[in-house]
Amino acid sequence: MLQLDIHPTGRHFLQIPGPSPVPDRILRAMSLPTIDHRGPEFGALGRQVLEGIRAIFQTQHPVVIYPSSGTGAWEAALSNTCSPGDTVLMYETGHFASLWKSMAERLGLRPEFAALPGTDTETGLPNSWRRGVQADLIEERLRKDGAHRIKAVCVVHNETSTGVTSDIAAVRRAIDAAGHPALLMVDTISGLASADFRHDEWGIDVTVSGSQKGLMLPPGISFNALSPKAIEVSKKARLPKSFWAWDEIVEMNKTGYWPYTPSTNLLYGLSEALDMVLEQGLPVVFARHQRWGEGVRAAVRAWGLPTQCVDERVHSPVLTGVITPQGVDADAVRKLIHERFDLSLGAGLGKLKGRMFRIGHLGDCNDLTLMAALSGVEMGLKLAGVPLAGSGMMAAMDYFSGTPVRKNW
Ligand code: PLP
Repeated sequence: MLQLDIHPTGRHFLQIPGPSPVPDRILRAMSLPTIDHRGPEFGALGRQVLEGIRAIFQTQHPVVIYPSSGTGAWEAALSNTCSPGDTVLMYETGHFASLWKSMAERLGLRPEFAALPGTDTETGLPNSWRRGVQADLIEERLRKDGAHRIKAVCVVHNETSTGVTSDIAAVRRAIDAAGHPALLMVDTISGLASADFRHDEWGIDVTVSGSQKGLMLPPGISFNALSPKAIEVSKKARLPKSFWAWDEIVEMNKTGYWPYTPSTNLLYGLSEALDMVLEQGLPVVFARHQRWGEGVRAAVRAWGLPTQCVDERVHSPVLTGVITPQGVDADAVRKLIHERFDLSLGAGLGKLKGRMFRIGHLGDCNDLTLMAALSGVEMGLKLAGVPLAGSGMMAAMDYFSGTPVRKNW
């Protein structure tokens, strides 16, 4: 028998930037009996979650829910809007932007990467992986595309590999300033329901997201939020698609059903997650993650370690990337912390492998969970022989005790 619950006492500290710890309230909701997905009870559940999820994306338009991880929703966004050989302009914010670009290549598109050139003198890491999207580079590229070959601009809102967010409204302004008709597609797989995100107000055509981060659900469902323009474009898009095709799903969703078997129990969980997030209100949820991020960064500053994000204005409220000193293998530090303190941290991905680790501050956690996680990191860094300038624990305690919380947390 596979034994997974090997933690002798207490809970494992899942401090990776998703999947995030799932609240008991959601786990309980998911333990309800599975029902007939064509029966009347299911229709009520379907209609309720399809309505509620729009409030999370801040949209009046359809949101498609897939029984897949976020990668499926990436593919759905591209295959519903593009035709073979189309050029798409993507922006290199980090590992996830790079994976989305590889997918575009595999689907037969011609993706182009915009990026800030050069490497950082302090760390030797690419500049583009330490800052958000530079909207002026997008505008510049679109202005040169007089023939409108570029069909979509694709950016990652919260780059989970680096802990950097991007100003999506600025990207919209850049596209408009260039007078370009390209669609704007945004991945907020790790930003939804934790970092401020406004599908309609920011003029986004397709938003891609997933369940296992800010919504505090297990992995397994993903989303495409659509604009009327995206729906129009999809009618002529020629990339092959069937499972991912929006038209049949959007049509059947009108009555609360899907053309295939949806993830019933994850939808129970989604219904509970929507209640939890909307009961508190999105502004409270955003402020809470912002505050957690500031508390964690207070600790990292006190340790004297650099964060992967170098622009104070765009630190992610969801995770913090911490760079280890040259010669210290961040993966070895993570392994030690996992073995000694039953605490999981996110690994450095792609170009950042071994150079940094990521602390997630999302999901079912609170000030004291984060304090415990930070103590595990601080002990682990000391055990690994990393010289620390001071106590991050003390700095975070000062931050959390000195920063009032809003009611309703
Ligand atoms: N995009 C971002 C920003 C992510 O953080 C992730 C996963 O962490 C993905 C895409 C891929 O999603 P999934 O692993 O759910 O397929």
